[in-house]
Amino acid sequence: MSAFLQEIEGLYAQAMEELAAAQTTASSEAWYAKYLSRKGELTAQLRGLGQLPADEKPAAGKRINEIKNGLSNALQARQATIAQAEMEETLSAEGIDVTLPGRLQQVGKLHPTTVAMNQIIDIFTQMGFEVFDSPEVETDADNFELLNFPPGHPAREMQDSFYTATPDVILRTHTSPGQLHAMRKYAPDPLRVILPGKCYRNEDVTARSEMMFYQVEGLAVGRNITFSDLKGVLFNYANQMYGEGRQIRFRKSYFPFTEPSVEVDVDCILCGGEGCRVCKYSGWLEILGAGMVHPVVLRNGGYDPAVYSGFAFGMGIERQAMLKYSIDDIRYFYDNDARFLARVG
Ligand SMILES: [Zn+2]
Repeated sequence: MSAFLQEIEGLYAQAMEELAAAQTTASSEAWYAKYLSRKGELTAQLRGLGQLPADEKPAAGKRINEIKNGLSNALQARQATIAQAEMEETLSAEGIDVTLPGRLQQVGKLHPTTVAMNQIIDIFTQMGFEVFDSPEVETDADNFELLNFPPGHPAREMQDSFYTATPDVILRTHTSPGQLHAMRKYAPDPLRVILPGKCYRNEDVTARSEMMFYQVEGLAVGRNITFSDLKGVLFNYANQMYGEGRQIRFRKSYFPFTEPSVEVDVDCILCGGEGCRVCKYSGWLEILGAGMVHPVVLRNGGYDPAVYSGFAFGMGIERQAMLKYSIDDIRYFYDNDARFLARVG
């Protein structure tokens, strides 16, 4: 064996011995720097190949490469062993406290609008009202004209509409056109329905109005339906929705499709009628609009107003939730802020 080969075999043996003694990741890295890195001893030997006599070069070059591979493989194996040992040492030193509380998963819940809508539906279905589905896209006739808003009627201006590409077809501005659909289905039989759903108005978004919002419409038609029936139904609703002992009051109002028309207030759920910031010191909170179905609308729905009468009411679902949970801005409902969604409902 040439002197050169003897030297690198000696280096190999020495490197293997030192590697076996390395106990930490840091010492294995130092070992790499010493032997295998570009400034390492084995690399220096490779450079020395050039000075060898030509007949020794092939065997020496081959052997150096074998040694290099051998050392690289040995380093990998040694580092894996060291990593395993270090992990075990860390685990046994720190221990695992199985009594620590885990990380709780965020659990989804129903949207506040859905919660309020479900409560409203429950209350009215207990009183014998049936949920009636009605389309969100309506003709101008059903949304306005047949509900006694003729073209040019000033009340139309309060409900700016979203128009579709089809003439006279709009996104409904209120759930009231559902009254006509329900009457056409049931006339001349008596009916009691509620119509929950989305409505759309082309208005500026503010703390009190959204472009898209939910309403629930209620309608009862029969031979002997009176204003007292409306009062009883809404009194029962207010007490179930806002708590026993609630008072309601009716204020005269105007809607084209009811006559007479009223706005309905409930005594303030925060101050109990004493007066506070939420009720603007009036002691009352407006919850919905209502009235006796206008004879023109009864006729348009297929009932003879000389024989039949009915009442209707309509309320904003978000408004009910805002009052019930003291929410002061309707925009929270559709901002999808998880903090709001988690707090309400
Ligand atoms: Zn109040």
